Amino acid sequence: MSIESILVIGGGLAGFTVAQNLRARGYAGALSIIDPAGIPYDRPPLSKAYLLGQKDTAGIALAPAEWYAEHRVELIRGTVRKLDTEYLGVELADGRRVHADRLVLATGGSPRPLPIPGGDLETVLALRNKEDADVLREKTTPGMRLVIVGAGLIGAEVASSARTLGAEVTLIDPVDPPLVPAVGQALARRLHAMHLDAGITLVHGTPVDISKTTHGHSLILDDGRSIDCDEVLVGIGIVPNTALAQAAGLETENGMLVDENQRTSNPLIYAVGDMARTRNPDGSLERRGEHWEYAMNTGATAAAAILEQELPVHGASWFWSDRHGTHVEGVGDMNGVGATVLRLAGEDPIAAFHLAEDGRMLGAASIDGGLTIRAARRIIDRGIIVPPESLADPGIALKKLAR
Ligand SMILES: Cc1cc2nc3c(=O)[nH]c(=O)nc-3n(C[C@H](O)[C@H](O)[C@H](O)COP(=O)(O)OP(=O)(O)OC[C@H]3O[C@@H](n4cnc5c(N)ncnc54)[C@H](O)[C@@H]3O)c2cc1C
Repeated sequence: MSIESILVIGGGLAGFTVAQNLRARGYAGALSIIDPAGIPYDRPPLSKAYLLGQKDTAGIALAPAEWYAEHRVELIRGTVRKLDTEYLGVELADGRRVHADRLVLATGGSPRPLPIPGGDLETVLALRNKEDADVLREKTTPGMRLVIVGAGLIGAEVASSARTLGAEVTLIDPVDPPLVPAVGQALARRLHAMHLDAGITLVHGTPVDISKTTHGHSLILDDGRSIDCDEVLVGIGIVPNTALAQAAGLETENGMLVDENQRTSNPLIYAVGDMARTRNPDGSLERRGEHWEYAMNTGATAAAAILEQELPVHGASWFWSDRHGTHVEGVGDMNGVGATVLRLAGEDPIAAFHLAEDGRMLGAASIDGGLTIRAARRIIDRGIIVPPESLADPGIALKKLAR
């Protein structure tokens, strides 16, 4: 049976990519994206250029408004409140119903709330969408005191941007240094130290209570310390938005379970991006990818699978982060059994390569080394064995080793 209509629920990067790839692959039927925000936009700038006022709303749009008309992609502004797997469609919060021959879930994630007294105060900030960024931008004035709970990728980026905007920033994390699983110990330590150099106060600890005060907020840590500030932002990760799917009886487990085609337990429904989690043929579950490229890759795969075309091949997973004028990239897995080789510039680690016991590269991370990571990805994807001493030598361009 030919497919005459496809409905994408969620217009973030993953949902947008599905629509873009469906058209690029020749799908000519009806195609709609439902999202409360209207025109899909990119999220990474929200903690960087958009927060800093260097990009505006048009600057973060994934495509200009004309693109949707030219490609006959209907944008339905609204929030889905119910998924109907029998009728194969959705019901919106305003009561509208939309049916399609295939559904794609692309609802992303929501900021993980801090599970402590006061963690759910309405005045505690989070950063996931443009409205969150607008609120944060308005409050981040020179001299204001901002406490950020969580020094992972987003917490660190907001700390850097807020400092640039003149805020007095305190960054709290129970782990010292944070980000070791993403970039390895040495780079994580160097990156964390950059916060101190930028004038950010680092606190190693765990908040146990947040309360409102006359002028702002007060946090209490597990060792009894208390910190007063104007605003608190929590950045401790996301929870996948799977409530709709769960209520409809689709299989979820800390994410919407999908196969290698991004197909859910209902063969007419697909899921992509931050909310999707791959279940391998042997039943084992992958970690959810919560990065920009993963959203694009899963969107591209779903489009190909829906049209029963050959699936695109994606390399090892990749992410980037920007803070304090430096650019961080990571590829593959820095955590498997094996050993890490460092590349130094003077005393500073600039790249880390994680090697399996048989010498294969499993993962790599670098600071200001985009070309190194591109080459490392090639080495990982092709299973090229490179001598550790060459990896450690900053005089050897990695691309020479990736042939
Ligand atoms: C501030 C920030 C900075 C980031 N920086 C980086 C970075 O530097 N590098 C990197 O690799 N990654 C970064 N990321 C991660 C990356 O942006 C995400 O992985 C990516 O946006 C995921 O795309 P998605 O489409 O799956 O989800 P989202 O972008 O969250 O989109 C999901 C959409 O679904 C909509 N939706 C949810 N529920 C419903 C419903 N019931 N009905 C209709 N619509 C619904 C939401 O409104 C949203 O628009 C960053 C993320 C954030 C928030």
